[in-house]
Amino acid sequence: MRILLNNADIVTVNEENEVLKGYDIIVEENKIGVIKQSSGFLLQGEFNEVIDCTNKIVMPGFINCHTHTPMTLFRNYADDLNLHDWLYKNMFPLEEKLTPDMCYAASKLSIIEMIKTGTTTFNDMYFYMNETERVIGEAGMMAMIGVSASNKTDPDFKKSIMLYEKFKDNKNIKINLAPHSIYTCTEKYLKNICNLSKEYNIPVHIHVSETKKEVEDCIRENGITPVKYLESLGLFDRPVIAAHCVHVTDDDIDILKRYNVNVVHNPASNMKLASGIAPITKMIDKGVNVCLGTDGAGSNNNLDMLKELRMASYLQKVSSYDPTAFNVDTALKVATVNGAKALGIENLGQVKEGYKADLIIIDANKTYYYPKTNIKSQIVYSGNAEDIETVIINGKIVMKGRQMLTMDEEKVKYEAQKAYEKLIEN
Ligand SMILES: [Zn+2]
Repeated sequence: MRILLNNADIVTVNEENEVLKGYDIIVEENKIGVIKQSSGFLLQGEFNEVIDCTNKIVMPGFINCHTHTPMTLFRNYADDLNLHDWLYKNMFPLEEKLTPDMCYAASKLSIIEMIKTGTTTFNDMYFYMNETERVIGEAGMMAMIGVSASNKTDPDFKKSIMLYEKFKDNKNIKINLAPHSIYTCTEKYLKNICNLSKEYNIPVHIHVSETKKEVEDCIRENGITPVKYLESLGLFDRPVIAAHCVHVTDDDIDILKRYNVNVVHNPASNMKLASGIAPITKMIDKGVNVCLGTDGAGSNNNLDMLKELRMASYLQKVSSYDPTAFNVDTALKVATVNGAKALGIENLGQVKEGYKADLIIIDANKTYYYPKTNIKSQIVYSGNAEDIETVIINGKIVMKGRQMLTMDEEKVKYEAQKAYEKLIEN
Protein backbone atom coordinates (compact mmCIF):
# COMPACT_ATOMS: atom_id res chain seq x y z
CA MET A 1 0.00 0.00 0.00
CA ARG A 2 1.39 3.41 -1.04
CA ILE A 3 -0.38 6.62 -0.14
CA LEU A 4 0.61 10.11 -1.26
CA LEU A 5 -0.33 13.03 0.96
CA ASN A 6 0.13 15.93 -1.40
CA ASN A 7 1.05 19.50 -0.42
CA ALA A 8 0.48 19.28 3.34
CA ASP A 9 1.45 21.58 6.17
CA ILE A 10 3.09 19.25 8.68
CA VAL A 11 3.26 19.61 12.44
CA THR A 12 6.12 17.18 12.95
CA VAL A 13 6.31 17.14 16.79
CA ASN A 14 10.01 16.37 16.27
CA GLU A 15 12.85 17.42 18.60
CA GLU A 16 12.91 20.91 17.06
CA ASN A 17 9.10 21.23 17.07
CA GLU A 18 9.32 21.93 13.35
CA VAL A 19 6.43 22.91 11.10
CA LEU A 20 6.92 22.12 7.40
CA LYS A 21 4.74 24.04 4.94
CA GLY A 22 3.83 22.61 1.55
CA TYR A 23 5.36 19.14 1.81
CA ASP A 24 4.53 15.76 0.27
CA ILE A 25 4.46 12.64 2.42
CA ILE A 26 4.69 9.17 0.92
CA VAL A 27 3.35 6.41 3.15
CA GLU A 28 4.90 3.06 2.28
CA GLU A 29 3.16 0.10 3.88
CA ASN A 30 3.00 0.90 7.60
CA LYS A 31 5.75 3.54 7.61
CA ILE A 32 6.35 7.11 6.56
CA GLY A 33 8.63 6.62 3.55
CA VAL A 34 9.57 10.03 2.19
CA ILE A 35 8.86 13.61 3.26
CA LYS A 36 9.84 16.24 0.68
CA GLN A 37 8.99 19.80 -0.31
CA SER A 38 6.09 19.88 -2.79
CA SER A 39 7.09 20.88 -6.30
CA GLY A 40 3.72 22.40 -7.06
CA PHE A 41 2.97 19.46 -9.35
CA LEU A 42 1.49 16.15 -8.35
CA LEU A 43 4.26 13.68 -7.62
CA GLN A 44 4.45 10.98 -10.29
CA GLY A 45 4.48 7.36 -9.24
CA GLU A 46 2.30 4.40 -8.43
CA PHE A 47 0.01 5.19 -5.52
CA ASN A 48 -2.99 3.30 -4.19
CA GLU A 49 -4.38 6.56 -2.91
CA VAL A 50 -3.58 10.25 -3.41
CA ILE A 51 -4.93 12.72 -0.86
CA ASP A 52 -4.83 16.42 -1.70
CA CYS A 53 -3.71 18.07 1.54
CA THR A 54 -3.86 21.67 0.34
CA ASN A 55 -5.03 23.79 3.30
CA LYS A 56 -4.79 20.74 5.53
CA ILE A 57 -2.53 19.95 8.47
CA VAL A 58 -0.89 16.56 8.93
CA MET A 59 0.31 15.57 12.38
CA PRO A 60 0.95 12.37 14.35
CA GLY A 61 -2.14 10.61 15.70
CA PHE A 62 -2.85 11.12 19.39
CA ILE A 63 -1.79 8.52 21.95
CA ASN A 64 -4.30 8.19 24.77
CA CYS A 65 -2.21 6.73 27.60
CA HIS A 66 -4.93 6.06 30.15
CA THR A 67 -8.47 4.98 29.44
CA HIS A 68 -11.01 2.29 30.26
CA THR A 69 -12.49 1.61 26.84
CA PRO A 70 -15.83 -0.05 27.67
CA MET A 71 -16.74 2.71 30.14
CA THR A 72 -18.46 4.64 27.35
CA LEU A 73 -21.43 2.55 28.46
CA PHE A 74 -21.41 4.52 31.74
CA ARG A 75 -21.21 7.89 30.03
CA ASN A 76 -23.37 10.48 31.81
CA TYR A 77 -24.65 7.79 34.19
CA ALA A 78 -23.21 9.13 37.46
CA ASP A 79 -22.14 12.74 37.21
CA ASP A 80 -21.27 15.42 39.75
CA LEU A 81 -19.78 13.08 42.36
CA ASN A 82 -16.37 12.71 43.95
CA LEU A 83 -14.20 9.76 42.94
CA HIS A 84 -15.03 7.66 45.99
CA ASP A 85 -18.81 7.91 45.64
CA TRP A 86 -18.63 7.68 41.86
CA LEU A 87 -16.46 4.56 41.99
CA TYR A 88 -17.80 2.63 44.99
CA LYS A 89 -21.50 3.57 44.84
CA ASN A 90 -21.95 3.67 41.06
CA MET A 91 -19.18 2.20 38.90
CA PHE A 92 -18.24 -0.93 40.89
CA PRO A 93 -21.89 -2.09 41.30
CA LEU A 94 -22.55 -1.48 37.60
CA GLU A 95 -19.37 -3.28 36.57
CA GLU A 96 -20.56 -6.41 38.37
CA LYS A 97 -23.44 -6.57 35.89
CA LEU A 98 -21.28 -6.15 32.80
CA THR A 99 -21.14 -9.04 30.32
CA PRO A 100 -18.60 -9.71 27.56
CA ASP A 101 -21.22 -8.77 24.95
CA MET A 102 -21.78 -5.40 26.60
CA CYS A 103 -18.03 -4.74 26.70
CA TYR A 104 -17.80 -5.67 23.03
CA ALA A 105 -20.55 -3.20 22.09
CA ALA A 106 -19.06 -0.46 24.28
CA SER A 107 -15.54 -1.03 22.96
CA LYS A 108 -16.81 -0.54 19.43
CA LEU A 109 -18.43 2.73 20.39
CA SER A 110 -15.27 3.92 22.13
CA ILE A 111 -12.91 2.96 19.36
CA ILE A 112 -15.00 4.78 16.75
CA GLU A 113 -15.01 7.81 19.04
CA MET A 114 -11.24 7.59 19.49
CA ILE A 115 -10.53 7.30 15.78
CA LYS A 116 -12.95 10.12 14.92
CA THR A 117 -11.18 12.38 17.40
CA GLY A 118 -7.72 11.50 16.09
CA THR A 119 -6.47 8.86 18.53
CA THR A 120 -4.44 6.16 16.82
CA THR A 121 -3.03 4.30 19.85
CA PHE A 122 -4.39 3.88 23.38
CA ASN A 123 -3.49 2.29 26.69
CA ASP A 124 -6.32 0.44 28.40
CA MET A 125 -7.06 -1.09 31.76
CA TYR A 126 -10.37 -2.91 32.13
CA PHE A 127 -12.28 -6.21 32.21
CA TYR A 128 -13.14 -8.52 29.30
CA MET A 129 -10.12 -7.34 27.37
CA ASN A 130 -10.64 -10.16 24.87
CA GLU A 131 -13.74 -8.29 23.68
CA THR A 132 -11.89 -4.98 23.39
CA GLU A 133 -9.07 -6.75 21.58
CA ARG A 134 -11.53 -8.11 18.97
CA VAL A 135 -12.62 -4.55 18.21
CA ILE A 136 -9.01 -3.30 18.07
CA GLY A 137 -8.38 -5.84 15.32
CA GLU A 138 -11.60 -5.10 13.44
CA ALA A 139 -11.01 -1.34 13.56
CA GLY A 140 -7.33 -1.51 12.59
CA MET A 141 -6.29 0.21 15.81
CA MET A 142 -3.13 -0.01 17.95
CA ALA A 143 -3.27 -0.51 21.71
CA MET A 144 -1.67 -1.62 24.91
CA ILE A 145 -4.16 -3.49 27.10
CA GLY A 146 -4.24 -4.97 30.58
CA VAL A 147 -6.84 -6.70 32.73
CA SER A 148 -7.87 -4.36 35.53
CA ALA A 149 -6.39 -6.44 38.31
CA SER A 150 -7.01 -6.54 42.04
CA ASN A 151 -7.37 -9.15 44.77
CA LYS A 152 -11.05 -9.26 43.81
CA THR A 153 -11.01 -9.15 40.00
CA ASP A 154 -7.94 -11.26 39.13
CA PRO A 155 -6.81 -12.81 42.44
CA ASP A 156 -4.41 -15.36 41.00
CA PHE A 157 -3.34 -13.31 37.93
CA LYS A 158 -4.76 -15.97 35.60
CA LYS A 159 -6.57 -13.43 33.42
CA SER A 160 -3.50 -11.23 33.06
CA ILE A 161 -1.22 -14.13 32.18
CA MET A 162 -3.72 -15.56 29.69
CA LEU A 163 -3.89 -12.18 27.99
CA TYR A 164 -0.10 -12.04 27.83
CA GLU A 165 0.17 -15.55 26.38
CA LYS A 166 -2.45 -14.74 23.75
CA PHE A 167 -0.83 -11.52 22.52
CA LYS A 168 2.88 -11.84 23.20
CA ASP A 169 3.62 -12.07 19.47
CA ASN A 170 0.97 -9.60 18.28
CA LYS A 171 2.35 -6.51 16.52
CA ASN A 172 -0.67 -4.28 17.11
CA ILE A 173 -1.47 -5.17 20.69
CA LYS A 174 0.93 -4.86 23.60
CA ILE A 175 0.16 -6.14 27.05
CA ASN A 176 0.61 -4.58 30.47
CA LEU A 177 -0.13 -5.68 34.00
CA ALA A 178 -2.76 -3.36 35.39
CA PRO A 179 -3.16 -3.47 39.17
CA HIS A 180 -6.01 -1.00 39.66
CA SER A 181 -4.60 0.95 42.62
CA ILE A 182 -3.08 0.66 46.07
CA TYR A 183 -6.56 0.79 47.63
CA THR A 184 -7.88 -2.23 45.70
CA CYS A 185 -4.69 -4.33 45.88
CA THR A 186 -2.94 -5.65 48.99
CA GLU A 187 0.79 -5.28 49.55
CA LYS A 188 1.33 -8.97 48.82
CA TYR A 189 -0.65 -8.67 45.61
CA LEU A 190 1.38 -5.68 44.43
CA LYS A 191 4.65 -7.45 45.25
CA ASN A 192 3.51 -10.40 43.14
CA ILE A 193 2.72 -7.98 40.31
CA CYS A 194 6.34 -6.77 40.50
CA ASN A 195 7.57 -10.36 40.18
CA LEU A 196 5.24 -11.12 37.29
CA SER A 197 6.27 -7.94 35.48
CA LYS A 198 9.88 -9.03 35.79
CA GLU A 199 9.23 -12.65 34.85
CA TYR A 200 7.26 -11.82 31.69
CA ASN A 201 9.06 -8.53 30.98
CA ILE A 202 5.89 -6.44 30.67
CA PRO A 203 5.17 -2.96 32.00
CA VAL A 204 2.78 -2.02 34.79
CA HIS A 205 -0.15 0.40 34.47
CA ILE A 206 -1.68 1.67 37.74
CA HIS A 207 -3.68 4.57 39.23
CA VAL A 208 -1.43 6.53 41.63
CA SER A 209 -2.21 9.34 44.10
CA GLU A 210 -5.41 10.29 42.36
CA THR A 211 -7.21 11.76 45.36
CA LYS A 212 -6.38 13.32 48.71
CA LYS A 213 -8.21 10.45 50.39
CA GLU A 214 -5.96 7.86 48.73
CA VAL A 215 -2.87 9.69 49.98
CA GLU A 216 -4.23 10.27 53.51
CA ASP A 217 -5.32 6.62 53.84
CA CYS A 218 -1.89 5.43 52.64
CA ILE A 219 -0.06 7.69 55.09
CA ARG A 220 -2.32 6.49 57.92
CA GLU A 221 -1.82 2.80 57.06
CA ASN A 222 1.79 2.79 55.88
CA GLY A 223 3.27 6.02 57.21
CA ILE A 224 4.33 7.08 53.70
CA THR A 225 2.80 8.50 50.50
CA PRO A 226 1.53 6.14 47.74
CA VAL A 227 4.56 6.98 45.57
CA LYS A 228 6.98 6.12 48.40
CA TYR A 229 4.91 3.02 49.22
CA LEU A 230 5.11 1.75 45.64
CA GLU A 231 8.84 2.52 45.57
CA SER A 232 9.28 0.51 48.79
CA LEU A 233 7.51 -2.47 47.18
CA GLY A 234 9.92 -2.39 44.25
CA LEU A 235 7.25 -1.53 41.69
CA PHE A 236 9.23 1.34 40.22
CA ASP A 237 12.11 -1.00 39.40
CA ARG A 238 9.80 -2.06 36.58
CA PRO A 239 8.60 0.15 33.67
CA VAL A 240 5.52 1.88 35.09
CA ILE A 241 2.73 3.97 33.57
CA ALA A 242 1.24 5.85 36.52
CA ALA A 243 -2.14 7.44 35.89
CA HIS A 244 -3.03 10.74 37.61
CA CYS A 245 -0.31 11.53 40.23
CA VAL A 246 -2.48 14.47 41.32
CA HIS A 247 -1.41 14.64 44.97
CA VAL A 248 2.36 14.23 44.85
CA THR A 249 5.00 15.96 46.96
CA ASP A 250 8.31 17.31 45.69
CA ASP A 251 9.95 14.19 47.11
CA ASP A 252 7.43 12.04 45.22
CA ILE A 253 8.25 13.84 41.97
CA ASP A 254 11.97 13.22 42.55
CA ILE A 255 11.21 9.52 43.00
CA LEU A 256 9.07 9.42 39.82
CA LYS A 257 11.96 11.00 37.92
CA ARG A 258 14.64 8.79 39.48
CA TYR A 259 12.83 5.61 38.40
CA ASN A 260 11.70 6.99 35.01
CA VAL A 261 8.06 6.44 35.92
CA ASN A 262 5.76 7.66 33.12
CA VAL A 263 3.00 9.92 34.44
CA VAL A 264 -0.35 10.13 32.63
CA HIS A 265 -2.18 13.40 33.15
CA ASN A 266 -6.01 13.20 32.93
CA PRO A 267 -7.16 16.78 33.46
CA ALA A 268 -10.84 16.43 32.52
CA SER A 269 -11.41 13.48 34.84
CA ASN A 270 -9.45 15.13 37.66
CA MET A 271 -11.48 18.32 37.33
CA LYS A 272 -14.87 16.64 36.93
CA LEU A 273 -14.40 14.37 39.95
CA ALA A 274 -12.90 17.36 41.79
CA SER A 275 -9.84 15.24 42.54
CA GLY A 276 -7.42 18.14 42.23
CA ILE A 277 -4.78 19.65 39.95
CA ALA A 278 -1.70 17.57 39.20
CA PRO A 279 1.58 19.57 39.39
CA ILE A 280 2.35 18.70 35.79
CA THR A 281 4.52 21.72 35.01
CA LYS A 282 6.73 20.91 37.99
CA MET A 283 7.03 17.29 36.86
CA ILE A 284 7.95 18.31 33.31
CA ASP A 285 10.50 20.82 34.63
CA LYS A 286 12.06 18.05 36.71
CA GLY A 287 12.31 15.83 33.62
CA VAL A 288 9.46 13.37 34.28
CA ASN A 289 7.98 11.90 31.08
CA VAL A 290 4.40 13.21 31.18
CA CYS A 291 1.84 11.95 28.70
CA LEU A 292 -1.90 12.46 28.36
CA GLY A 293 -5.04 10.37 28.86
CA THR A 294 -8.77 10.87 28.84
CA ASP A 295 -9.50 8.31 31.56
CA GLY A 296 -12.79 6.47 30.94
CA ALA A 297 -15.87 8.16 29.49
CA GLY A 298 -17.61 7.55 32.82
CA SER A 299 -15.64 10.41 34.34
CA ASN A 300 -14.66 12.63 31.40
CA ASN A 301 -17.27 12.21 29.61
CA ASN A 302 -15.67 11.65 26.22
CA LEU A 303 -12.43 10.37 24.69
CA ASP A 304 -11.42 13.51 22.82
CA MET A 305 -7.65 14.03 23.14
CA LEU A 306 -7.73 17.44 21.47
CA LYS A 307 -10.11 18.71 24.14
CA GLU A 308 -7.91 17.05 26.75
CA LEU A 309 -4.66 18.69 25.66
CA ARG A 310 -6.33 22.10 25.60
CA MET A 311 -7.74 21.56 29.10
CA ALA A 312 -4.30 20.46 30.28
CA SER A 313 -2.77 23.64 28.96
CA TYR A 314 -5.41 25.95 30.43
CA LEU A 315 -5.38 24.16 33.77
CA GLN A 316 -1.62 24.48 34.21
CA LYS A 317 -1.70 28.15 33.21
CA VAL A 318 -4.52 29.19 35.51
CA SER A 319 -3.36 27.16 38.49
CA SER A 320 0.15 28.63 38.32
CA TYR A 321 -0.89 32.15 37.25
CA ASP A 322 1.74 31.64 34.55
CA PRO A 323 0.51 31.98 30.94
CA THR A 324 3.76 30.50 29.64
CA ALA A 325 3.08 27.19 31.42
CA PHE A 326 2.22 24.18 29.25
CA ASN A 327 2.71 25.91 25.88
CA VAL A 328 1.65 24.56 22.47
CA ASP A 329 4.79 22.49 21.98
CA THR A 330 4.34 20.85 25.38
CA ALA A 331 0.67 20.18 24.65
CA LEU A 332 1.47 18.51 21.32
CA LYS A 333 4.30 16.43 22.81
CA VAL A 334 2.36 15.06 25.79
CA ALA A 335 -0.41 13.94 23.44
CA THR A 336 1.89 12.18 20.97
CA VAL A 337 5.59 11.44 21.30
CA ASN A 338 5.67 11.32 25.11
CA GLY A 339 2.88 8.73 24.95
CA ALA A 340 4.91 6.58 22.55
CA LYS A 341 7.81 6.74 25.01
CA ALA A 342 5.55 5.79 27.93
CA LEU A 343 4.21 2.75 26.06
CA GLY A 344 7.72 1.77 24.98
CA ILE A 345 6.88 1.95 21.26
CA GLU A 346 9.79 3.14 19.14
CA ASN A 347 9.47 5.29 16.02
CA LEU A 348 5.98 6.50 16.88
CA GLY A 349 4.49 9.90 17.65
CA GLN A 350 6.28 12.12 15.14
CA VAL A 351 5.96 12.82 11.44
CA LYS A 352 9.40 11.64 10.43
CA GLU A 353 10.81 9.40 7.70
CA GLY A 354 10.94 5.80 8.92
CA TYR A 355 8.39 6.42 11.65
CA LYS A 356 5.13 4.53 11.90
CA ALA A 357 2.45 5.88 9.58
CA ASP A 358 -0.07 6.84 12.27
CA LEU A 359 -1.23 10.20 10.96
CA ILE A 360 -4.21 12.50 11.16
CA ILE A 361 -5.21 15.02 8.52
CA ILE A 362 -6.92 18.16 9.79
CA ASP A 363 -9.12 20.36 7.62
CA ALA A 364 -7.71 23.86 8.20
CA ASN A 365 -10.29 25.63 6.08
CA LYS A 366 -12.72 26.38 8.92
CA THR A 367 -13.18 30.03 9.88
CA TYR A 368 -11.28 29.59 13.12
CA TYR A 369 -8.12 28.61 11.23
CA TYR A 370 -8.03 32.14 9.73
CA PRO A 371 -6.06 34.29 9.51
CA LYS A 372 -3.23 31.87 8.79
CA THR A 373 -0.73 32.45 11.55
CA ASN A 374 0.69 29.85 13.94
CA ILE A 375 -0.36 26.35 12.85
CA LYS A 376 0.46 24.74 16.21
CA SER A 377 -1.65 27.32 18.06
CA GLN A 378 -4.48 26.69 15.61
CA ILE A 379 -4.53 23.05 16.63
CA VAL A 380 -4.04 23.51 20.37
CA TYR A 381 -6.14 26.61 21.03
CA SER A 382 -8.59 26.94 18.11
CA GLY A 383 -9.31 23.60 16.48
CA ASN A 384 -11.96 20.96 17.12
CA ALA A 385 -11.83 17.20 16.82
CA GLU A 386 -14.51 17.44 14.09
CA ASP A 387 -11.87 19.07 11.87
CA ILE A 388 -9.99 15.76 11.75
CA GLU A 389 -10.91 14.57 8.30
CA THR A 390 -8.78 11.50 7.71
CA VAL A 391 -7.03 9.05 10.02
CA ILE A 392 -4.27 6.67 8.97
CA ILE A 393 -3.17 3.91 11.35
CA ASN A 394 -0.38 1.49 10.52
CA GLY A 395 -0.35 2.87 6.96
CA LYS A 396 -4.05 2.12 6.43
CA ILE A 397 -6.79 4.70 6.04
CA VAL A 398 -9.37 3.89 8.72
CA MET A 399 -11.42 7.11 8.45
CA LYS A 400 -11.80 9.29 5.35
CA GLY A 401 -13.92 12.42 5.01
CA ARG A 402 -15.15 11.70 8.60
CA GLN A 403 -16.54 8.34 7.43
CA MET A 404 -15.35 5.23 9.23
CA LEU A 405 -14.02 2.74 6.68
CA THR A 406 -13.51 -0.19 9.03
CA MET A 407 -16.71 -0.12 11.11
CA ASP A 408 -20.44 0.52 10.68
CA GLU A 409 -21.01 3.56 12.88
CA GLU A 410 -24.82 3.52 12.86
CA LYS A 411 -24.95 -0.16 13.79
CA VAL A 412 -22.42 0.41 16.57
CA LYS A 413 -24.46 3.26 18.09
CA TYR A 414 -27.61 1.12 17.98
CA GLU A 415 -25.89 -1.84 19.64
CA ALA A 416 -24.32 0.35 22.32
CA GLN A 417 -27.75 1.76 23.19
CA LYS A 418 -29.18 -1.76 23.45
CA ALA A 419 -26.27 -2.86 25.65
CA TYR A 420 -26.83 0.10 27.98
CA GLU A 421 -30.55 -0.63 28.27
CA LYS A 422 -29.81 -4.25 29.13
CA LEU A 423 -27.23 -3.20 31.70
CA ILE A 424 -29.56 -0.94 33.67
CA GLU A 425 -32.61 -3.23 33.25
CA ASN A 426 -32.12 -5.01 36.56
ZN1 LIG B 1 -8.59 5.51 35.35
